[in-house]
Amino acid sequence: MEKNIVILGAGLSGLTTAYLLQKEGFSVKILEANTRLGGRIYTKKTNNANIELGATWLWKYNTALIQLCKELDIQLFEQKMDGDALFEAMNAHPPQRFNLPPNQEISYRIVDGTHTIIEKLAFKIGRENIYLDEKVTHINQFENQLTVTSKNKTYEVDYVISTVPPRLLIQSITFSPELPKDVITVANQTHTWMKDSIKFAIVFDTPFWRKNGLSGVGFSNVGPFTELYDHCTVQENGFALMGFLNGGLAELTKEQREAKVILQLKKFFGEQVNNYLVYDEKIWKKETLTCIHDNQFIFPHQNNGHEVFQDSFMNHKLYISGTETSKTYGGYMEGAVRRAIEIVQQITKD
Ligand SMILES: Cc1cc2nc3c(=O)[nH]c(=O)nc-3n(C[C@H](O)[C@H](O)[C@H](O)COP(=O)(O)OP(=O)(O)OC[C@H]3O[C@@H](n4cnc5c(N)ncnc54)[C@H](O)[C@@H]3O)c2cc1C
Repeated sequence: MEKNIVILGAGLSGLTTAYLLQKEGFSVKILEANTRLGGRIYTKKTNNANIELGATWLWKYNTALIQLCKELDIQLFEQKMDGDALFEAMNAHPPQRFNLPPNQEISYRIVDGTHTIIEKLAFKIGRENIYLDEKVTHINQFENQLTVTSKNKTYEVDYVISTVPPRLLIQSITFSPELPKDVITVANQTHTWMKDSIKFAIVFDTPFWRKNGLSGVGFSNVGPFTELYDHCTVQENGFALMGFLNGGLAELTKEQREAKVILQLKKFFGEQVNNYLVYDEKIWKKETLTCIHDNQFIFPHQNNGHEVFQDSFMNHKLYISGTETSKTYGGYMEGAVRRAIEIVQQITKD
């Protein structure tokens, strides 16, 4: 079809939308501000481990995402939870060992890392249709035509689909004519999932914690890490632990955080921790292509899937998408895929 469609953002929403539109016969371009694909999906490969510094888990009710994985021939595996867990209640006492209760909700991981979804989608779409380092700054409407201006170029397009998280969209892109006031107000108060999180992973040459009957699962009221999980590959050739750090540590240096994590891990697992191969982390609070950070408090998931995002704008030429605009599972990967499906249905119908 001759319609000229531009998608803003090469995260899960943008790539899934492009993939589905192409299947319907449309030609699409994706403009991505970052120099890498994936947005909040960010897997780093090191010493055979797939370190997830962004999204990691999915669950059996994530039916749209699971269907997409099937279609792309992507395999899932269960998050390893067998063995005892450790809980650090306070500084003065060593972490306590306890049995993880059975029948917990099973979380699944993606074989070879969550980024596999991104890589497979990008391959299907064709890298030549994805433009990196193309931050969009302006969207203008003149009669029936839209222009999208990025760092490098102005594009004339028939449809624009933004997958930029709504709060960032409204604050970093200029619209002419302006978007409706209610959209601006709601978008400014829309939560961006995990925007403040700090994720870390630590790689070892052996999963030594398992020998002691430990699952690698840890919880702490003390910090710096609050949660910890086994993060080994399903092939059992890359061995790691992965967890979340207390958000207040964002202002320390990486070296300072690393030293604190090692100290805490030694309380959990002993001196063998000293033999770690790699420590890595991602401070999402400092990721300017995910959210604006201005200390405004917004409740988790606030306004996710709000009614104002379900409309189209600029003479039905602009769609506001991305996981935070999904009525179901907003903020999660499932929301990103469901919203992509909805937008494609809407455009095909139009
Ligand atoms: C630490 C962390 C852990 C998470 N864990 C899980 C999990 O376990 N399970 C789960 O389901 N979900 C999880 N999530 C959420 C999941 O990552 C998101 O739901 C999903 O990746 C969002 O995809 P998206 O495409 O809607 O948005 P994004 O991935 O944010 O993509 C938006 C894209 O827009 C680009 N962009 C921004 N501004 C512009 C501009 N001006 N011009 C062009 N491009 C622009 C950005 O660079 C980005 O690539 C986690 C997220 C984080 C950060």
